[in-house]
Amino acid sequence: MKRIKFYVCPTCGNIIYSMNPIDIACCGRKLEPLEPNNPNDSHLLNITESDGEDYITFDHPMTKEHFISFVAQVMYERVILVKLYPEQSGALRIPRKRGSKLYYYCTQEGLFMI
Ligand SMILES: [Zn+2]
Ligand SMILES: [Zn+2]
Repeated sequence: MKRIKFYVCPTCGNIIYSMNPIDIACCGRKLEPLEPNNPNDSHLLNITESDGEDYITFDHPMTKEHFISFVAQVMYERVILVKLYPEQSGALRIPRKRGSKLYYYCTQEGLFMI
């Protein structure tokens, strides 16, 4: 499987992803693909299973200046991307899929993958 690449525009917050390397520009500047990091202590997701879904919560600020702006479940053939907004609670549900990866993006510390 090719590694998915995520791009986030620092100006408008637009989120773009691609399975193939592409040239992307937004708001007049070229976007570089984000390198996923391992989660650090302040960027951990709690995942519990309920009714065949993953119930994901996190203890992370959701302010305009610092929030988790998306969580994406990446599988072989599809991507489910959940967009989050400031002031929202840190909780979401996505279908549980074996072997999928979760990517999530903090507006200050960048992309994480588990
Ligand atoms: Zn933009
Ligand atoms: Zn953060």
